[in-house]
Amino acid sequence: MSVEDPRRGIPGTDRLLALPAVRRARNRLSETVIRAIIAGAQEAARDGVLHVDEVEDTVEREIKTRTPLSLRPVLNATGVIVHTNLGRAPLSASARAALQTATGYVDVEMDLGTGRRSPRGVAARAALLEACPAAEDALIVNNGAAALLLAVTALCVNRADGPLAAPGEILVSRGELIEIGAGFRLPELMASTGARLREVGTTNRTHLDDYARGVTESTGCILKVHPSNFRVQGFTSDVDIATLRGLADEHHLPLIVDLGSGLLQPDPLLPDEPDIDSALRAGADAVIASGDKLLGGPQAGLLLGRCEVIEALARHPLARAVRSDKLTLAAIEATLRGGTTPVHAALHADPERLRSRTERLAARLGAQVVSHDGRVGGGGAPGVPLPGWAVELPEELAAALRRGDPAIVARVHGGRCLIDLRCVPEREDERLVALVQEALVQEAPAREARRHTRDPANQDG
Ligand SMILES: *Cc1c(COP(=O)(O)O)cnc(C)c1O
Repeated sequence: MSVEDPRRGIPGTDRLLALPAVRRARNRLSETVIRAIIAGAQEAARDGVLHVDEVEDTVEREIKTRTPLSLRPVLNATGVIVHTNLGRAPLSASARAALQTATGYVDVEMDLGTGRRSPRGVAARAALLEACPAAEDALIVNNGAAALLLAVTALCVNRADGPLAAPGEILVSRGELIEIGAGFRLPELMASTGARLREVGTTNRTHLDDYARGVTESTGCILKVHPSNFRVQGFTSDVDIATLRGLADEHHLPLIVDLGSGLLQPDPLLPDEPDIDSALRAGADAVIASGDKLLGGPQAGLLLGRCEVIEALARHPLARAVRSDKLTLAAIEATLRGGTTPVHAALHADPERLRSRTERLAARLGAQVVSHDGRVGGGGAPGVPLPGWAVELPEELAAALRRGDPAIVARVHGGRCLIDLRCVPEREDERLVALVQEALVQEAPAREARRHTRDPANQDG
């Protein structure tokens, strides 16, 4: 009698596909995902890693626990409000609800009164104009970089009504040619349009005179950029928007101001952070801002300013390539017209409330409270500390916290793991305690082992 190869008993694909749990998963998972799970279990059995009798159970278990999305929710315990690696701004409850609505068919380009086509995203545009009375018109595109690309192309390379004789020049200060993050350099982006940069002044000082001497026949626009994530201190000077307005008028040039962070009005907490309203009142023809920085909304590029300029951008063919989708438009409108954003709440967190929450957490964990500064992040208000507190835990705990569900991302600094509650919604405090306690238990054996190797009594010689 020959010994039968146990691998011959591996359940076939058709049989596994017919399992009740697998059939039920069809409205939750794609055919590709389901088949990959099945193939994985069969392969494990062929390799002898999995017993043939366990294949069905394994497939059922994996199918039940698998979700179609691999992005994981995070509790941001870093104290950095607009955290680029964590998706910048968490949305307000109103914006989240709006996203849910916008997932279906919606009247994004239809007037339901007449049944006719209407311009796209009129409501989001109207909400933006209500929030910024100084703006005559507004345009929403995919992100801040796209807004800059569109402005530079439409003003300096080819207008909506046809190409310019030759690409024009962007007049810009050397002190404002910045790299934002992940290697994204504004000057390279602008040069990619074919426009030429006319750099004036020096890294630390630029005067009106520098701009004035830089104006030529081929100047297409004057651009002022908020340097966002760095500060030049000491012997410095730059030219403000109102002064540049004078020069722009003298030469009939558009003045574009890239603000980056998207504050609607001045915020006393961030005195050096420019806002859209003030920039427009000072004389900018168009300002550019990101929807997901200090505005606290979804990723978007906001262009606000004078009708003539905004309309020219909206008419340009490139505008279609960078337009925002219905989800973004819905979330922008609801961010502007709905309740407080988490970004605003974190920025204006009551220090006493933060302190008592932190003390309560520390007491539950038997840990220390230390003072800890939060940050705006996302290139906003560099060097401006947001005084607060953190619970101090051993550095090694950070990895276990990241494995939690939701993951907790703490600040690892100076050999410690710091939990800052500024960006953690208060309703999550209980869950956070439980997650940290779980991580402490998980990490306990490793901590014990390390203590032994560090203990001189356990070391040879
Ligand atoms: C962040 C930023 C941008 C890019 O905006 P995104 O929305 O990230 O594309 C452009 N300019 C400035 C000054 C910025 O701070």
